[in-house]
Amino acid sequence: MKFRKLLNLFGKKSCPGCNNSIRKFNQIEKSVSSSLSSIYSAPQGFEALSVDSYYCPICGANDRDRLILSYIQRNHTSHCSILEIAPSKAVRQQLVKNKFSYRCCDLFMHGVDDQCDITNMTCYADQSFDIVICSHVLEHIHDDSKAISEIARILKPNGQALILVPIPIGLQANLYDAAIEDSETRIKMYGQADHVRMYSRSGLTDLIKNSGLSLKTWTRSDDELAFEKMGLSSTSTLYIGIKQ
Ligand SMILES: [Zn+2]
Repeated sequence: MKFRKLLNLFGKKSCPGCNNSIRKFNQIEKSVSSSLSSIYSAPQGFEALSVDSYYCPICGANDRDRLILSYIQRNHTSHCSILEIAPSKAVRQQLVKNKFSYRCCDLFMHGVDDQCDITNMTCYADQSFDIVICSHVLEHIHDDSKAISEIARILKPNGQALILVPIPIGLQANLYDAAIEDSETRIKMYGQADHVRMYSRSGLTDLIKNSGLSLKTWTRSDDELAFEKMGLSSTSTLYIGIKQ
């Protein structure tokens, strides 16, 4: 492809986690990539997983961290108030450094600003945040409808929920069976022992739309150059739920 050759001439990748130019992002660890191949629902890999350019060698930002940070840096000013659920170190560092009004929460993680269950976020009033980041969280939650409705509740009007979950390429419908509790079966079906669901693309988009949020996506076709520079796969998609 001519475009890629041209880019390679100019060379470098850039990381929105640390703003450094680098030669390349590092591959995902071998132990992780081999365990991914045992997930029977994801024979073609995952939509937003860039196995060959997974994390930044300088700041450690992974592919989904870069997708989220780049979207925020392009679309929002530091006047925004942001809540990150189950914070990523790279995202948190960069948003705090850039002086966003930032809070983070989790039910179990230490060192967060607020300890709370995302299906019942009583610590936050209605319409508290311009942005809520919820990356790789919903697949851990049985009552994901309750979680997304809580996220919608705490967003300000026109606020945006930035949502990512593991989505196998080609999976037609969510896989979910509340009766499955043993680790081995969950790993095979959902990818991790603490995951309770595997989302399909339509399963996630229906969840967002059914919560009353309107849906927008940010994909490589919206900005080919930016996605190439960030080392993101061609299928990487950020799901954005917007409060009306
Ligand atoms: Zn970086």
